[in-house]
Amino acid sequence: MSLLEIRKLSFAYGDLRVLWDVDLEVRQGEIVTVVGANGAGKSTTLRNVSRLVRPAAGQLLFQGQELTRLESHDVVELGIVQVPEGRHIFPEMTVLENLRMGSYARATRPDRARNIERAFSLFPRLAERQRQLGGTMSGGEQQMLAIARGLMANPKLLLLDEPSLGLSPLFVKNIFDIIAEINRQGTSILLVEQNVFQSLRIAHRAYVLETGRVVLTGTGQELLGNEHVKKAYLGL
Ligand code: ATP
Repeated sequence: MSLLEIRKLSFAYGDLRVLWDVDLEVRQGEIVTVVGANGAGKSTTLRNVSRLVRPAAGQLLFQGQELTRLESHDVVELGIVQVPEGRHIFPEMTVLENLRMGSYARATRPDRARNIERAFSLFPRLAERQRQLGGTMSGGEQQMLAIARGLMANPKLLLLDEPSLGLSPLFVKNIFDIIAEINRQGTSILLVEQNVFQSLRIAHRAYVLETGRVVLTGTGQELLGNEHVKKAYLGL
């Protein structure tokens, strides 16, 4: 079943056209990844879905419902949660307070205790550091906290923008394994990444975006074996 359908999405920042007729689908239960070079339009695609910007043309459907007329807070209530690039945790709040902020919406409060438990079991590091101020954690820990906070809102679809950005190689594999585990526990995921190998490794399906156009699509495995992907993105 289709969860998110993007149809012929076009977008421009002023005169700068960034997306051209992008078609993309996330089905229930999938991890879908969008890979591409710097500036290909990956973040802009996510920002359209979470309604941080408005498309020039095209349709965005979530469980059949049109998103283009909605505001970002409406989209969160429907179950779409974006974890932004660059983390944006609250540096002056503790880990626990940051997690609680993720369930400010009334509907998610009854699940707060259970969701904190789940966050701590996915990220044992956060449990150990729950009383520490967010701003004093390492980059990798802040990234974990940002994802854990996103999960507090009970997302049906989690939008992840460059979760591996700035992480040490040791953390990188770890964060992709955790993303796969979050998906196994029932959350569908749309992931945007420059780490092409790791994101294709965990993706059910993937799209390659080049200068704002989808140029290739297939399963994660298919794209890992694709000659163009190997040459252009995997350095093989
Ligand atoms: P990155 O990994 O660098 O974020 P990306 O594939 O996510 O790359 P986008 O961030 O979507 O790419 O950017 C696509 C294009 O839009 C780039 O040319 C970028 O310079 C431009 N752009 C992004 N944000 C803005 C903005 N707020 N105003 C004007 N141009 C922008």
